[in-house]
Amino acid sequence: MEIARHKVVTFHYVLTDEAGERIESSEETGRPAVYLHGRNNLLPGLEAELAGRRAGDELKVTVLPELGYGLRVDDAVRRVPIKHLVQPGKLAVGKTVVVNTTSGYRQAIVTKVGRFNVDVDFNHPLAGKTLVFDVKILDVRDATDEEIAHGHAHGPGGHKHA
Ligand code: ZN
Repeated sequence: MEIARHKVVTFHYVLTDEAGERIESSEETGRPAVYLHGRNNLLPGLEAELAGRRAGDELKVTVLPELGYGLRVDDAVRRVPIKHLVQPGKLAVGKTVVVNTTSGYRQAIVTKVGRFNVDVDFNHPLAGKTLVFDVKILDVRDATDEEIAHGHAHGPGGHKHA
């Protein structure tokens, strides 16, 4: 079965940056990625290359920042009052925090800690990076009606509903 719109795909991947530095691997966690194809559940640059592939295929996909996590935005580094953080806990540089902004809750990485304020970077940690995925496709199946209605995969590795 070929990967196309409304197929549910299970795959293992090793993600490295352009220099070959490993970022993450689904084989290390033992949990392959599962997604519903054609519904914007995957980085666009990766999803496009998986179309037409089958279970058992292995491929290397290079994803430019524009088709990955986007370009880095310099003015995405902001100083915010600590009281605007959701459950800040012990703050340290590099920690991921959730900021209560005027446009809702947003994740950010702490770049500097002050007494009343923190500097946070709203860029995605992988923004601006060219990503290289080594992909091994494990399974391709038809989506259920419910998955198509929800726009995401269910079952092991898929979306879990409370
Ligand atoms: Zn669902």
